[in-house]
Amino acid sequence: MNFNETERLICPDCGCENVHPTAVGVHNAGKKGRLVEVTSDGVHQSPNGATMGKRGVVIELEFNCEICPCVMIVKYQFHKGDTSRESSWFIMDGYTAGECPPVETIWRD
Ligand SMILES: [Zn+2]
Repeated sequence: MNFNETERLICPDCGCENVHPTAVGVHNAGKKGRLVEVTSDGVHQSPNGATMGKRGVVIELEFNCEICPCVMIVKYQFHKGDTSRESSWFIMDGYTAGECPPVETIWRD
């Protein structure tokens, strides 16, 4: 990753360039579930959660495709002075390819 470049997110399932930010979450050290989450309906705090098995804060960015039911997650994990990035994606439960669920963008103009 180069900090001096701009990269456009592309849906890994359908190739669409219309990808919406739908959540930003921060996990507490050693906890599963987002301690703080920003979604389209506001800021939420959940101080309790199960053990995540890793140490250090996790910052999670969630995106949804506008065309298909794809959810993309980018995680930044801090541990012992290092920060790593992990990306994953999945198809929302209950949807199949070609179906377009409503996208809950955090906010938009
Ligand atoms: Zn897509």
